[in-house]
Amino acid sequence: MAVLAVDIGATKFAAAVAVSPIGAVPGDESAARPPALRHLHQVGVPARDVWATCRELLRRVVGAASADEACGGAAFEVTVVGIAAAGPVDVRTGSTAPLNIPEWRDGFPIVAAVRELFPEADIRFAIDGAALALAEYRVGGLRGVRSGLAMTVSSGIGGGIISDGRVVFGRTGNAGHVGHIVVPGWEVPCACGGVGCVEAVASGMSSVRWAREQGWPGTTGAELARAAEAGDPIALAALSRAGTALGQAVSSAAATLDIDRVVIGGGFAQSGGPLWEPLRAAVARHARLGFIRELEILKSPITDGATLVGAAVLAGD
Ligand SMILES: [Zn+2]
Repeated sequence: MAVLAVDIGATKFAAAVAVSPIGAVPGDESAARPPALRHLHQVGVPARDVWATCRELLRRVVGAASADEACGGAAFEVTVVGIAAAGPVDVRTGSTAPLNIPEWRDGFPIVAAVRELFPEADIRFAIDGAALALAEYRVGGLRGVRSGLAMTVSSGIGGGIISDGRVVFGRTGNAGHVGHIVVPGWEVPCACGGVGCVEAVASGMSSVRWAREQGWPGTTGAELARAAEAGDPIALAALSRAGTALGQAVSSAAATLDIDRVVIGGGFAQSGGPLWEPLRAAVARHARLGFIRELEILKSPITDGATLVGAAVLAGD
């Protein structure tokens, strides 16, 4: 079986060939080795000709695998494609309509387009949050728990749900849109058209925007985190604001879903104590029901390309 894993992100596309199934880790039964990804290529999402760019990326990955004897050389043939796409998606039509890709705003039939490239292959399609949850559950921070929430906090905020040992997809495939949990106290307009979503308050991009409005001169979430570590009062306030809102959203999700553990990954989640201390303080304040009092909140152990790993797991399952 040759698996092609595809991550249709809102700002970048990535694809790779997964050459091995999930493996055991010698001497550590609690861990699992993710599928090994080979010939990983990625490309920024252009403003126009979005599908042509994506198609070229997939051809490049498959071309590289076909030239690699370790992948089977000329006999290499894609048999399963796992596609994890930024949402909203519609799994009923196999389409995606990421908020950040105007050309696809009305929905792009990604499954049909990929099927044209690989007519013989089995195609599995899920929202990126569900793929992320699958990756965390099988090879990451949700291993060993029956019910949990995987979140990514980067330029946006997304997530996916594991409930009773299964990924929750929802009616249209969009379950786990935790970025649009409404948090109290901030009336910030959100890209979804609503107001006060946690993504509009606590994502890297939203936090940078807020800090700049207060006079901070930087431009990225990583700079904001470094400024907070160095004691910059505006950066500290921005991360405190983000952490508090994240803790509120996590508490609401935990009570709704009855989960053991929340795993948080993504670039902005690497912001350290100035983000995580207010996050934990907000959870301590809000998650008070007995069944979530022991809720664990961990940083994701998957450091690279968790969504792409999830696409590979989705295809390999
Ligand atoms: Zn929203």
